[in-house]
Amino acid sequence: MANRIKPVHRKAIEEYVEKVRVALGLLEWRIVLLDEPTEDDEAVEPPTAQISTTETHHLALMRVGDRFFDDDGNPDNLRTETLIHEVLHLHFEFAWHAFLEVAHSNLAGQALGLAKYSYRTNIERGVDQLAHALASMLPPFKLPK
Ligand SMILES: [Zn+2]
Repeated sequence: MANRIKPVHRKAIEEYVEKVRVALGLLEWRIVLLDEPTEDDEAVEPPTAQISTTETHHLALMRVGDRFFDDDGNPDNLRTETLIHEVLHLHFEFAWHAFLEVAHSNLAGQALGLAKYSYRTNIERGVDQLAHALASMLPPFKLPK
C-alpha cells in the first residue's frame, strides 16, 4: 500500500509534527509517519490517528486513519488537536511501559485488565484535555488542498 498518504499531505503532517515535537520539549524523540492506516481491534471504527513506541528507544511510529483526511467530519482545528494529542502521548510513553511491566509481573486476570484500563483511560483523558488547551497556543495545522 504505497503512497496511501499523498506526498503533499505527508510533508505537511511531518513538518507540523516536527514543530509540535520541538515545542513540547520532546527533543530526543524521532517520529516516523507510517503509510499504513490506523487500527484498533477493540474500537468500533479505526482511530483518527495513533502513535506507538517501544520501552527502550525514543522512536515513535505514527499513523493517520482515513478519517483524518475527512474535511466534513474532521476539519483542520480537529486535525490540529489530533496531531498535538499524538505527540503529547510521548511524554507518558515510558511511564506507560514501566507500568505495564510492573502490572504484568504483579497482577493477573481481571485485576490486570482493570489496572491497565484505569491507567490508560486516565492518561488518555489528560492527553486529550492538554491537547485541546495547547491547540489554542500552538500554530494551527492546515491540510493542503
Ligand atoms: Zn490518545
